[in-house]
Amino acid sequence: MRAMQLRHPHDAESDTLALTDNMAIPEPASGQVLVHVHTCGVCHTDLHTVEGELSLPHLPLVPGHQVVGTIHAFGDGVSRWHMGDRVGIGWMNHTCGTCDQCRRGNFNLCENARFTGLDIDGGYAEYVLADEGYLFALPETLDDVAAAPLLCGGVIGYRSLRLSEIQPGGRLGLYGFGSSAHQAIQVARHWGCDVYVFTRSAEHREHALALGAAWVGDAEESPPARLDASITFAPAGWIVHRALEHLRPGGTLAINAIHMSPIPEMPYSLIYGERTLRSVANFTAQDAEEYLRLAAQIPVHTDVEVWQLAEANEALRRLKHSEIRGAAVLQVQE
Ligand SMILES: [Zn+2]
Ligand SMILES: [Zn+2]
Repeated sequence: MRAMQLRHPHDAESDTLALTDNMAIPEPASGQVLVHVHTCGVCHTDLHTVEGELSLPHLPLVPGHQVVGTIHAFGDGVSRWHMGDRVGIGWMNHTCGTCDQCRRGNFNLCENARFTGLDIDGGYAEYVLADEGYLFALPETLDDVAAAPLLCGGVIGYRSLRLSEIQPGGRLGLYGFGSSAHQAIQVARHWGCDVYVFTRSAEHREHALALGAAWVGDAEESPPARLDASITFAPAGWIVHRALEHLRPGGTLAINAIHMSPIPEMPYSLIYGERTLRSVANFTAQDAEEYLRLAAQIPVHTDVEVWQLAEANEALRRLKHSEIRGAAVLQVQE
C-alpha cells in the first residue's frame, strides 16, 4: 500500500515523510478492524511526531489520527460493524479495559493505551487498524473531507469545553485558533456563550469573528471582561500566565496540548482565588460519540484545505506556520 512514512524525525522545514508504495497491508488481530482510508486530517500532534517532540515507540512509523474510511476486514470477535460501513478513527486506538484507570472509567488515561499514528501506523496510508470500540459512526451530513477534522480537533475541543466547566451563556476564552478552536467556538456559540479569541494571525482573527467571536485580540491584550473559563490550544507555556490573568476567580483554564514549552515560574496570585489549571489528555469513546452527534445537530461547519497524500510534508509546514485556514485534510483515496 501507499503511505507517507517517518524514518528519521527532524524539523518539518525539510521533508520528514517519505512516500512509499510497498508497505504491507496490516492484518487485523482479534478485536481489530481494518479500515480502507479515504481521508486523514493533519493535526498539530503529527507535527510534534515528525519533529520528534513526542517519544516515538518505533521507527519507521506512519502518522495520522483523524481517519475517515470504510471497513475492509475484521479480526475475530468483531460484532459491532459491517463490511463497507463508513467510520472514523481518532487518536485513541486501543485501551486495555483492565488497568486502574480503565476500571475507573478514565479510558483516556489508560496505562496501556495505544495511539493511532504513533503506536499503530496511522492514516497517512491506504489502510489503518483500530479496535472495534474506537471506530465511530459518522454523521451522513458530513462528507469524507468535512468529517476528518471532527475526529481529533473536534472531539478534543469538545472534551476541553467540558473540562473547562464553561456554562451556557458564560464568557469563554480561546487561545490559538486552529482546527480545534474553530470547532469549539461553534459549540460554545450553540450554548449561548460569549467567546473571546486570542490569536496573532490576522486571518484567524477574521475567521473567529465570522464564527461569532465577541472579541478578538492578542494574548498580551486584556479582554473587555474577566473570563469564566478558557482553553489554550497553543503549545506555548508563557500563554498560561496571560490566560490566568484574564480568568475570574473560581474559573478554570484547560490546556489542550500534548506537548508544551515550559511554563515560566509564576506568582501564586495567578492561581489564588480558586482558579483551576488543568490539562486535557486524549478522549474517551463516549466523548467522540457525544461530539459527533452534537456536531451533526448544530451543525458544526469545518473549514478545510485539501491536500494530496504525497503533499503531507507541505501541509505540515503550513500548519506549523499557522497558514492553514481551519483544518488541513489529506485525500488518500477517492
Ligand atoms: Zn490530533
Ligand atoms: Zn487500561
